Amino acid sequence: MATEVAPGRFASLDPCVHCGFCLPACPTYLATGDEADSPRGRIVLMRALERGEVPANDPALGQHLDACLGCRGCEPVCPSGVGYGRGLEVARELLMEARGLPPLARLTLWVFQAPWRWQTLFGAARGLREAGLARRLAGSGRMGFAMGMVAATGKPNARTDRSVAKTPPTDGPAVSIFQGCVMESLFSHVHHATRRTLEANGYRVVEVPGQACCGALHEHAGDRATANALAEANVRAFTASTGPIVVNSAGCGALLKDYGHLLDTPEAHAFAARVKDVSELLAERGPRAGARLEMDVAYDAPCHLQHAQRVHEQPLAVLRAIPGLRLQLLSGFDRCCGSAGIYGLLQPELSREVLLDKIKAIAGADPRPQVIATGNPGCLMQIGAGCLAAGLPIEVRHPVELLDHSYQVAGLY
Ligand code: SF4
Ligand code: SF4
Repeated sequence: MATEVAPGRFASLDPCVHCGFCLPACPTYLATGDEADSPRGRIVLMRALERGEVPANDPALGQHLDACLGCRGCEPVCPSGVGYGRGLEVARELLMEARGLPPLARLTLWVFQAPWRWQTLFGAARGLREAGLARRLAGSGRMGFAMGMVAATGKPNARTDRSVAKTPPTDGPAVSIFQGCVMESLFSHVHHATRRTLEANGYRVVEVPGQACCGALHEHAGDRATANALAEANVRAFTASTGPIVVNSAGCGALLKDYGHLLDTPEAHAFAARVKDVSELLAERGPRAGARLEMDVAYDAPCHLQHAQRVHEQPLAVLRAIPGLRLQLLSGFDRCCGSAGIYGLLQPELSREVLLDKIKAIAGADPRPQVIATGNPGCLMQIGAGCLAAGLPIEVRHPVELLDHSYQVAGLY
């Protein structure tokens, strides 16, 4: 049966002139070579859905839209300014209404709805990580790759992780850190580094209780109702605070900045206007230089930072504040790693195929980087697991972790 689609819901796709400039920027098209796995092909499919020519539960439609990473790499290269991401958001919502979600997706999204559920899951993951089992079992099979992802969340220096800035500012501008779910549970060391580097640059960090998961995984899967409920909880939690809401996860940041669109309330618009990636705030202050760290570091740009938030230079400014650090931008540094939220769970083969080019570029780099720096938990885990599977002795770190280390060596903490 044809799907009823309200007029104008796909208006963001209107400017498409089918020129195909976006095709070479699309990781899934490059992997499969299938026009239906390209942005242009998917736009044609979404238009057919809109006109009622293809029902929302059509298996072929679902296959090609499910295979989209939602990386939005097609947007900045489009000369007509097509809002592909907005179109995909509507299509995924219609698909979910018509055919539901696969059991694995339902289970994963259920876990992220309530803190006790994700805290239990990630508590077990931390146990595997801390016992060294995750690293030992890391490999290239499906289970080995999952273990590699857990191992990639490891902290570099447990001893100094809980140190604090020597003189936390008492009168600087107030900022509050968005905790998130994966970041809070598996990357608490990045939160500590975020807090210390912000304080070292004159910001005063205040705690905000009652936060929820950002809802990005739900929104990307088409579960708009749960995404909205989580967004409302976060808007409520932050109403008592003022000043920037700092995010160190690109995927969360992209959706938090979009809460105005999601909820369309004055409170949600005000919340969204306060959201900043940590690199944006640090770059506003320079950031101040740290101690010398002699190392080769390759920066990998998270899709939700560069395409969704259009933040390009600030993470590089963070890394350039470290004297001695030799910064590289490898071929494909600005292309999706294949992580894309729960995509790796639902489309494991294509996800790994998309990752392969990145791992090849890292393995073939001269000099080979000692560290890959990237500001998103999914990318850290995917690239980290890819390096472990390929036997590459390369660390993955959030840019603020490296700046934090440099500040520690400089004696700021
Ligand atoms: S989305 Fe943009 S780049 Fe791609 S085919 Fe349409 S107009 Fe061309
Ligand atoms: S969002 Fe990414 S995977 Fe999807 S069509 Fe655009 S470039 Fe391709």
